[in-house]
Amino acid sequence: VGTASYDCLSSFMISVDQATAITLSHLFSPPVLKVPLRDAVNHVLATPVFADRDFPPFDRVTMDGVAIAYKAWEEGRRTFVIAGVQGAGASQMDLPGSEVCIEVMTGAVLPRGADTVIRYEDLTMNNGMATVADVIVEKYQNVHHRGSDAAAGSALLSPGQRISPAEVALMASVGITSVDVRAWPRVAVLSSGDELVAVEEQPGPFQIRRSNTEALVSALRSMGIEAEAGHLPDDADIIKREIGRTAAECDVMILSGGVSKGKYDYIPDALEAAGIRKLFHQVSQRPGKPFWFGVGSRGPVAFALPGNPVSTFMCFYRYVRPWLLHSLGTEVKSQAAVLAEDFKFAPALTYFLQVRVSGDGGVMKAWPAAGGGSGDFANLASVDGFLELPSDREVFRAGEVFPFLAFRP
Ligand code: AMP
Ligand code: MG
Repeated sequence: VGTASYDCLSSFMISVDQATAITLSHLFSPPVLKVPLRDAVNHVLATPVFADRDFPPFDRVTMDGVAIAYKAWEEGRRTFVIAGVQGAGASQMDLPGSEVCIEVMTGAVLPRGADTVIRYEDLTMNNGMATVADVIVEKYQNVHHRGSDAAAGSALLSPGQRISPAEVALMASVGITSVDVRAWPRVAVLSSGDELVAVEEQPGPFQIRRSNTEALVSALRSMGIEAEAGHLPDDADIIKREIGRTAAECDVMILSGGVSKGKYDYIPDALEAAGIRKLFHQVSQRPGKPFWFGVGSRGPVAFALPGNPVSTFMCFYRYVRPWLLHSLGTEVKSQAAVLAEDFKFAPALTYFLQVRVSGDGGVMKAWPAAGGGSGDFANLASVDGFLELPSDREVFRAGEVFPFLAFRP
C-alpha cells in the first residue's frame, strides 16, 4: 500500500478512542441472578449489602488479658484482685468493683463496668492477683467499640462492587447465604479459517492449531465467564448458517479471523445477514486494524477481531474486557506506565507496544519488547501488556507516561 492510498484509507478508518466510545455506547444489561455465597466470587454485586446489626455487635475485647475500670488505674492502683474469667461467646459479666479485674479473652464481650483491657504480656499473675508492669495504659485500649466499624442498617457494600474473598467475608458476617449478582452474558467464541485445527489434532503441513480460541476462552474464564466455543470453515454458506444460529443463542459474539480483505473473509457479510448492523470496520491501530464491531437490534453484540493472534489478544484486552466490565456495571481500572527507553513508530496509527514492566521506586516502568509483529504471539509469554502509543507522533521519549494495558493479574 503506497502512501497516497494509505492516506485515503486512513481517512475513513476510525480512531481507537472513537472505536472505544462506540463499543461503550452499546452495552449489554445483564439481569440479576441469585447465587450461593460461595459461588459469588468474581461476580459483580447487583444490590447493596447492609449491616444486619452494629459492627462489632458489642464492645469486643481484642487482646487476652484483664479488664479494669480505667478510673482505678488513674487513681494509682496497679494490683487487681481477679474476680472471674470472661470467655469469648459467654454472656456479659459484671466488674464488681474498681479494686478488681476480670480476665478476658479475645473476642469476648467487655464486662459491664470495665472500659480498658491490659494484655497478659504487661501483667504478672500471682495468687489470684494481677499486677501491671511499668507500661502506659490508655482508657479504652484493646476494646473494639460496638458499632465503631458500621452502624446497624448502614450500607457495607454497593452495587457494582466486584466480589473478592474480602466481600465474601463481609457478606458472610451479615448472614447472606445467597447473593444478588449480575448474570454473566452468554458469550460465544467463534474462530474461523480452513488452516486451523483443534488443539488435540495433529496439524497438516500447512495447518496450525486454533490458539486464539483457547486464549479468548481463558481470558474470559479469568474474569469468571464461561464461554461456548466453536469453529467456522472458510465457507460462506456454513459461516452464514452458523453465525445466524449462534446469534440467536448468545448475548456477545467474539469472532476471530475472516474480517480482513482476503477472498475468504466472509465474516462481516455473514454478521450483517444475521441482522447484526456494522458500527465500524477498521480502526487506525496496530495490531488489529481490521477489527469489526456491530450490534443486533435485539440480538447480540459482535466483536469480530482480526485473526492474527496478537491482534485478537490485544483487541480482547483493549475493547472486549472493558466492554464486559462496563456492561456488568463495575469499575474499570486504568493504568499508566513510564516508557523506559526511546521508541519510534512512524505510521499514523495508535501503536500497542508490547512491554515488560518493572516497579522502580513506586513507578511502573515499561520496557519495549516489540516482538516480530502481530503474528508473533510467542513474544506475549515474555511481556506483561501493551503500552498505548498515540497515533499523532512518531517518536516516544523515555520518561513519558502512556496508558498501560495489563493482561497479567
Ligand atoms: P485472518 O484474520 O483470518 O486473515 O487470519 C490472520 C492470521 O491469523 C492467519 O495467519 C491465520 O492463520 C491466523 N489465525 C486466525 N485465526 C486463528 C486462531 N484461532 N488461532 C491461531 N491463529 C489464527
Ligand atoms: Mg482466515
